[in-house]
Amino acid sequence: MVITMKSGCLKRNVAFVIKTLESKGCAARIISPGPKVVLGLVEEINHSLMEEIRGLVTHIEGVEDINTFDTTWKLVSRAFTGKTTAIKVGSRTIGNGEVVVMAGPCAVESREGIIAVAREVAARGAGILRGGAFKPRTSPYSFRGLGEDGLKHMAEAREITGLPIITEVITPHEVPLVAKYADILQIGARNMQNFALLEAAGEADRPVMLKRGMMGTIQELLLCAEYIVARGNGKVMLCERGIRTYETETRNTLDIAAVPLLKEYTHLPVVVDPSHAAGKRELVPAMAMAAVAAGADAIMVEVHPEPDKAFSDGRQSLTPDAFGVMMQQLARVAQAVDRHIPGV
Ligand code: PEP
Ligand code: MN
Repeated sequence: MVITMKSGCLKRNVAFVIKTLESKGCAARIISPGPKVVLGLVEEINHSLMEEIRGLVTHIEGVEDINTFDTTWKLVSRAFTGKTTAIKVGSRTIGNGEVVVMAGPCAVESREGIIAVAREVAARGAGILRGGAFKPRTSPYSFRGLGEDGLKHMAEAREITGLPIITEVITPHEVPLVAKYADILQIGARNMQNFALLEAAGEADRPVMLKRGMMGTIQELLLCAEYIVARGNGKVMLCERGIRTYETETRNTLDIAAVPLLKEYTHLPVVVDPSHAAGKRELVPAMAMAAVAAGADAIMVEVHPEPDKAFSDGRQSLTPDAFGVMMQQLARVAQAVDRHIPGV
């Protein structure tokens, strides 16, 4: 439920609305302090209580409008909050119209390797460096990342290139450690519904990129984002990275419709990761261009200097040169939809 007060209404009228809600056991949040005060009730309540509250609040002086919502996600809702979220990271802003490109290897494999690839992608217009130090792998015998050493190497690559860094956190107790180094915390597809992790990220003082689970619906993704925002961290971006379907020619199926849908439903920025969706590097540029045309705020792609030697996800990783070609193509698509990639 969203209650909009008339502009210039008295503070005591707002307080009376809050008191009325509290008398019914409901907590109100101030969604906007002005010019018109907007109050929201985010907890789920049953229909009869909703109608009872509506009846009581309608008569309070200063109340302009009462809106009920049937979505269970509220704080991430564009309609509920009337907001648009833009997240500034370093010199780039995700969600303000510019196209931000995050690029780097699947995993940090060595200090020299991550520094070299950071230089390569920075020179070609990447705005953010990606690289996993804690890797969630399908097999327990695969390379699972360098851990804190990997984070240190990422931080050093940031020092050298100036690129902010995004890296994955896979357990709630490691959130403070990863947040110490990272500019953006990544929550991976396999952890989309790890609610303890979402809540820990909700308490961190870092933006979070939440990836859609491979079997996650759009509604579930939004509810997972709601977990983070409800804990006080409003800097959340959502990442479409392909979902599992019957198709086996691609690793996953990129749900391009998720981009405009998410942009309509939520005020949070939307990122597309064509690399994990495609699973094949030759498909990545076309899918990245489609994502920009569809309105994605940012793109995340895997880049490796020698993809065939990568410890993970080499098949879908672009070489730095192929990344450079893709950036030029993306810049032209961005221009066609009245957007641009800073520095390209
Ligand atoms: C990754 O970004 O390297 C990764 C593991 O992605 P996802 O969680 O989408 O599979
Ligand atoms: Mn990967």
